[in-house]
Amino acid sequence: MKSVAIIIPCYNEAETIELYLDAMQAIEQAVSYHFNYLFINDGSQDTTLKILQNLAKAYSNVNYLSFSRNFGKEAALLAGLKTVSDELIIVMDVDLQDPPELIPKMLVQIEKGYDIVATRRKDRTGEPLFRSLAAKSFYYLINKISDTPIVDGARDFRLMNRQVVDSILKLDEVNRFSKGLFSWVGFDTYYIPYENHQRSAGKTSWSFWEIFKYSLEGIVNFSEAPLNIATVTGFFSCLGAGGAMLYFFITSLIDKNPVPGWPSLVCIILFLGGMQLFCLGILGKYISKIFLEVKKRPSYIIKESSIKTKSII
Ligand code: UDP
Ligand code: MG
Repeated sequence: MKSVAIIIPCYNEAETIELYLDAMQAIEQAVSYHFNYLFINDGSQDTTLKILQNLAKAYSNVNYLSFSRNFGKEAALLAGLKTVSDELIIVMDVDLQDPPELIPKMLVQIEKGYDIVATRRKDRTGEPLFRSLAAKSFYYLINKISDTPIVDGARDFRLMNRQVVDSILKLDEVNRFSKGLFSWVGFDTYYIPYENHQRSAGKTSWSFWEIFKYSLEGIVNFSEAPLNIATVTGFFSCLGAGGAMLYFFITSLIDKNPVPGWPSLVCIILFLGGMQLFCLGILGKYISKIFLEVKKRPSYIIKESSIKTKSII
């Protein structure tokens, strides 16, 4: 029987893990594949680790990695992808917002020869209006300014073959924006649309500020547009200022009196000063990314694992 590795990042998910595993075991009955679960405890403060330890003891196909602290979902995904060795790999959330019922359909598509079977939410029902508006604007913007397409509503929930995962692992950047990396590697992708599902239990660990930072991460990692905009705006404002200087010089020669209007001057100075700071901020964002990359710190530290090989811990 073919096996599928299932990578599941968990952060404070004590309430959802067992519900998840029950739902998955029902699906496992319905397909002719063997599931190997790899949970990643991303530094949870609740009893997530305890639950995973018990499940790993109870089931031979359940394993876990546990981080020394919270490193973020991206790091958890990376750790999972690096650890598994199966030919087929699924990444999914534990809160049942990634519906397990889609897995049989995904396996059918991968059998047809697709390299990636991804999922896409058709709607954002149940999400706060502001959050879904912000998300929509983000997808609109990033698709305008980046060469890597990022499908609106696309989830991290996807089934990939080994070749795709190996390609993703070759991208060893520290600043990881998985949605972009998954798309950047290319390959034949089939999207399965589905209706939005609410969390089974617990609550989301993403605040609005975190989503904002995550979106910024996506833009800075996958687009040079902010740098180009800063350069072009700087260039045209210099050109404009040069033109204005010439105009005022000539008119003051003709009229023989100084140009009145210091308020407009103050406005211009403030405007240009503000723009310079803004552009410096953009530049700083990219430089900080370079700084993180050159430091080459590991994306995560594994404190313990149910897999007893030296290469992992
Ligand atoms: N998660 C994680 N580390 C974090 C935040 C989240 O591993 O720092 C996991 C979380 O346990 C869940 C998945 O990532 O399995 C998605 O998180 P969540 O449901 O909070 O996000 P949302 O669905 O609201 O976007
Ligand atoms: Mg969720």
